Formats: sequence, C-alpha cells, structure tokens
Amino acid sequence: MRASVAEVKILRAGGARLAAILRQVATAVRPGVTTLELDSLARNLITAGGDEPAFLNYQPAGARQPFPAALCVSVNDEVVHGLPGGRVIVEGDIVSLDLGLRHQGLFTDMAITVPVGQVDQESARLIEITRRALLAGIGALRAGGRLGDVGAAVAAVARVEKLGLVTALGGHGVGREVHEEPLVPNIGQAGEGERVVASEVLAIEPMLTLGGGTVRLSSDGFTYLTRDGSRSAHFEHTAVVTERGSEILTV
Ligand code: MG
Repeated sequence: MRASVAEVKILRAGGARLAAILRQVATAVRPGVTTLELDSLARNLITAGGDEPAFLNYQPAGARQPFPAALCVSVNDEVVHGLPGGRVIVEGDIVSLDLGLRHQGLFTDMAITVPVGQVDQESARLIEITRRALLAGIGALRAGGRLGDVGAAVAAVARVEKLGLVTALGGHGVGREVHEEPLVPNIGQAGEGERVVASEVLAIEPMLTLGGGTVRLSSDGFTYLTRDGSRSAHFEHTAVVTERGSEILTV
C-alpha cells in the first residue's frame, strides 16, 4: 500500500508492538519448548494487546486450506511457513520465527532467526549474514529506485559470502492486506524491475541457506524446506519508502 502520514503512524505503532512480541517469543525459544507453545505465546501476546494475528486462518492464493496458527516456526532445514506442532526444540537448532499482526486495521510483518544455545559456527554465520542481507536490501530502497536494486543488494551479499539464496520466495507489499503487490524478489539487476514510490510499504525478507537455494513444499502443505536438507535462515522487516531511503517500521 501507499500509506498516508496518519497510516504510517498506525503502521509504526503496530510494527513496534510486533517487534516487541517477536523479541519476547525469541526469549522463549529454548531446548524443550514445542513449536506449538511458541505459537500460543505469540497468539496470546498479540490478542492481549488488542490486535489480531495476521497469519491465523490466512489462506494465500493457491493454498489448499487456511494457515491454522499465528506464528510460522521454521526449524533448521525449514525455510519459511513452518507449521507449529509437537516438534521439540533442541540445543543447536536454528529457529526462524515469522509473525504478522493487524493493528487498527493495518498489517505489519516481521521475521527473525534465533540460535538455540550453542550452535555450530556455520549456522551462526548463516544467521548473521542473512540479517546483513536484509539490511542491504532495505538499504537499497528509495523513492524513484527499482525493485531490482533490492534484489541485487540481497543477492550480492549471498554471492560474496558463498551462501545459498532462495529465489522462489520473496518479499511483498503489505499494509491493507498481509500480502499485497508487488512481489519483491531476492534477486535482480540494479536499475531494473518495478519502480519504487514514496510512501510505499514493503516487506523485505531474504532467505539464505548453507547449501543450495532450491526449496520444496512439505507434505503438511505449508512448510517450505531446502531440497538438499541444508539449514536456512530468514529475516524480515516491514519498511516504508521515503524520498531519501526508507524507515523500518518493525523496530
Ligand atoms: Mg512476509
């Protein structure tokens, strides 16, 4: 969406709530917790604040059924859209948490990947570099720029660091709906692609891996996994485009 000044205020407030909740859920990611318990915590924190979970009962185009949880929990080789359930988190896992909320009618979307206790060096590096790829993508946003600027910036980080890049999935417009046009690919050529306009609200979300970038859909119909079983990390912010750059709303 293109947000008015008043709408940006609402998105900023919603984004701050979302970031605080995600930080709180991240502290609950410990050995022994189930992914369903993390979902319950996220759901309760959102509703306690008077907001609505954006993903609960959300049915994207093409999906067979609506998503039955508030939080996507994607562990190790799970890339995104992990369906919470009885899986028990163990030491050494890396856990991606993706959450959206609706505050005063407007949606924000955010994701982080957290290490569980001591993780191997490769996994720690994957997390750090995926976070950096997100910041590089956001850093390429400006009014008058192109979406290819964002994809090129994200892809450059993955290429230089020799990490896998998931290109079948990407970011999106957000605000009035949880997923809006345009798609924001995590690959591209600077100066190419759709034009970026001031006050546009976008979710930028790189997914990097320790292997290849090809994904497959799990038999649960929701969870995307790396095809080669390698670990994946995912970070996402909602940002509003400004004349000189952008403002991250999910902080
Ligand atoms: Mg998203």
